[in-house]
Amino acid sequence: MKSISKAVAIICFALGVLSIHAQGVQTDEIDVKHYEISLNIDNISVKHHFGYTRIDFDLKTNEHNIVEFSLQNQVVDSVFVGNTQVNTPPYKTNFTIDGNKVRFPLPDYTAGMYENYVAIVYYHGSSTVENNYMAWGGLHYDNDIIYAMSVAFNDYPHSYGRSWFVCNEDFADKATYDFYISVDKDREAFCSGAFVDKEENENFDTYHYKLTQSVAPYVVSMTIGKFFTYEKTIHSDTYDYDIPLVVKYIYPSDSAKIAKNFSGIEKAFNTLEKHFGKFRFNRVGYTVTPKGSMEHVDNICVARSAVLDTSINGVSNIVHELGHSWFGNLATCLTAEDMWLNEGFTTYTTSLTLQEIYGKEKEKDYWHQKHQYVLQHLPLEEGVLAVTPIDSSMTYSSTVYEKGAMVAKTIQGYFGDSVFFAAAKAMLDSFAFKNYSSQMVRDFLSEYTNDENFKTFFDCLVFGDKQIDYNMYCEDGIYKFKFNHSQYDNILNIPHTTMYGVEVSDYDQRIMSLTTNNDAIVESDKTINFPNAFGKIKIENADDTTFVRLILHWTGANGEKLPYGVEKLSQNHYWTLQTKDLKDKKAELSLYFELNGSANSFDNSLVNNLLGKDSIVLLYRKDINCEWIPIEFTIPNNNKGYIKTSFVAAGDYVMAKGDKQMVGLIDKTNNEINGIKIYPNPSKSVVNIEVEDFNNTTLTAYSLSGNQKINIPLKAKTTAYKFEAKGTYILCFTFGNKTYSKKILVE
Ligand SMILES: [Zn+2]
Repeated sequence: MKSISKAVAIICFALGVLSIHAQGVQTDEIDVKHYEISLNIDNISVKHHFGYTRIDFDLKTNEHNIVEFSLQNQVVDSVFVGNTQVNTPPYKTNFTIDGNKVRFPLPDYTAGMYENYVAIVYYHGSSTVENNYMAWGGLHYDNDIIYAMSVAFNDYPHSYGRSWFVCNEDFADKATYDFYISVDKDREAFCSGAFVDKEENENFDTYHYKLTQSVAPYVVSMTIGKFFTYEKTIHSDTYDYDIPLVVKYIYPSDSAKIAKNFSGIEKAFNTLEKHFGKFRFNRVGYTVTPKGSMEHVDNICVARSAVLDTSINGVSNIVHELGHSWFGNLATCLTAEDMWLNEGFTTYTTSLTLQEIYGKEKEKDYWHQKHQYVLQHLPLEEGVLAVTPIDSSMTYSSTVYEKGAMVAKTIQGYFGDSVFFAAAKAMLDSFAFKNYSSQMVRDFLSEYTNDENFKTFFDCLVFGDKQIDYNMYCEDGIYKFKFNHSQYDNILNIPHTTMYGVEVSDYDQRIMSLTTNNDAIVESDKTINFPNAFGKIKIENADDTTFVRLILHWTGANGEKLPYGVEKLSQNHYWTLQTKDLKDKKAELSLYFELNGSANSFDNSLVNNLLGKDSIVLLYRKDINCEWIPIEFTIPNNNKGYIKTSFVAAGDYVMAKGDKQMVGLIDKTNNEINGIKIYPNPSKSVVNIEVEDFNNTTLTAYSLSGNQKINIPLKAKTTAYKFEAKGTYILCFTFGNKTYSKKILVE
């Protein structure tokens, strides 16, 4: 809304002059330096608390004499600024409550006198949880445990410190804290910060914790209960010091599972320190709580369900929260729109820690699952969105967590491990106890690595949602890559490696492209399922080096020239098969299709009902520089199942919509079609090619083993052509507007 009429602008200006001192201060104009939170929660049966929050703060301008902080669903008893209660002289007005805001006047200022304010807000209240079906964030009063979750999933702003103390609810306003929490003598208070002391009174004890690290209100917490403690010492391998692991819990029956699920935490801690720098807080502290997991500093709330789940899922949850000690708690997203910097990067760190605990294979599984979810399900659940900027209703969406994690991993893949980890460590160091936006992350990494191209890469992937798809091809013996978005050309290096004589692209999945895949050494005559690639393969007389990798691209294939009779290529998916020349091996490749006519069906971009099934054709190309050619296949009668072909060779496969008659795939029982005969097949080197209508037919041979494209002139009805090299060839005939292809073997 850039153009604004003059009249409106003048009205706004006039109103601005009149109301400037009546408005509360914007959150970004307040700089809180310190919070002191004192609460009496010493009578658990009444489920009620009282106390105060003392706020030491500066204002960034001297234009205000009213200030505004957040406090949700609590009763404010009185407000003091300095030593003076605000409803007594010289103050002319008292505090006011407006929704979840408490506003109060400041002393008359003179220019420059707008720093070092001290305000104390006295209040009382009870359980306050976010007002929606999740009731996740907030101060929970359960019978056995009281705990504060300082983030709201749904309520806005998502920072939810206001559910239990008076605060400036802003990710970017970081402060230090003192907590004085008074509880019944049979209970214990556990808070963010280092334990200072416990003051024993007649009927209650006051626990004092001090947090000297500057953090935002959404990452501090208190938990209160009759706690059991699981304690261990973690040794830092990288920085050679000891730090305690402390887990508070209320059910003694949880002990064994806690010991088991936290047994890998030292490895996780050391992995994170090794890659991202020294841990900056006071302990690796957790409290087991009934609901949800939240990364509060020194006092992570971990869901009991995660603690009781001794599978990788439970451990994954525990180490995820620890990862936030770097991404989120130390360096924090500037706004909710950049939440992927907290959650995407932390979800990504989980793969590093799980790899250390469970090994490389589990890490691979982790990404397989995540990747499959993001490509298959996420577009249906949330649509295809860029990870930032993201709407406030989507702050904690799977786009932010799961797709954000893939983007973070792809950034690692872009730089390679050593450059990336050094840069990430330097970045966290530079932004420690501060905030960053996506642009700031981009610029820092680009400058640190002295890589201007990274900006283009980042802009495409992060802001532009140009998800990566690529095709590998070989030119003059050199493997090259062609990208779906030309911006990635000459910028992005895709690793490739040789497996059993087969050149495979990015075997370790360093670049999270729009693909899922599986690979196997194929056992002879046995059907091998590739579940992530939605395909199967069966090879007769396979040997112990018959390596096959099937890649499913979750995006449409391109093709400048389609065979005659083909209307369009699938816009949903295509496959790449990576294998060696199968020569005389008889093989069958099965590729999944589904026509439901619903949004979920795999091939509804092609034909949307069973009647349309007859117009599906299967095309093959050797690589992106070759033309698509129609190949023989069978399709089952049902509206879902596998399309099968015995035309099995390294290259791309795509389903397309076309006319089988026109593409020349009908009535084919032997080598004869449209007056074409090829013999012998297999041959020693000379192949006789008989073409009735040779004048109007052109023939191109593609070698599958080498990288040749041969134009074979047809000057008579029968052409005897001598192939110089042994191997498998595809003969691609074009007659008039039709094409026909046949695989031959030269032994
Ligand atoms: Zn998280």
